[in-house]
Amino acid sequence: MDKIEHIGIAVKNLEVSKQLFAKIFGTQPYKEEEVASEGVRTSFFKSGPNKVELLEATNPESPIAKFLEKKGEGVHHIAFAVEDIVAEIARLKGEGFVILNETPKKGADNKLVAFLHPKGTNGVLVELCQEIKQG
Ligand code: ZN
Repeated sequence: MDKIEHIGIAVKNLEVSKQLFAKIFGTQPYKEEEVASEGVRTSFFKSGPNKVELLEATNPESPIAKFLEKKGEGVHHIAFAVEDIVAEIARLKGEGFVILNETPKKGADNKLVAFLHPKGTNGVLVELCQEIKQG
């Protein structure tokens, strides 16, 4: 596993939270994207080498809606950059972790992603994240 790629934060209202985080970082989000399959609208900030993803639910069945119901707003996941997501999934599965997406799926920001079940990771939702290479 490589560096932390980004931290995901669940928010109730993306417009309100965008303004809040724009004040914190002193910069506007560099990207906004809706991932319909996940029922989320995302907004990405960059501050120095660090990235933060704000996530808002777009429907009540969205995993973000369920998270907000259970835990309220706050840190939702930590994403680690990996070179080869298929190999990392196989390695972590071999270590006994439950992988929520054994076949990586397309996430926001041009990434292939997979999540580890938080029950096996001290309650921390861990995202593996591989840049989709062009060509
Ligand atoms: Zn993420």
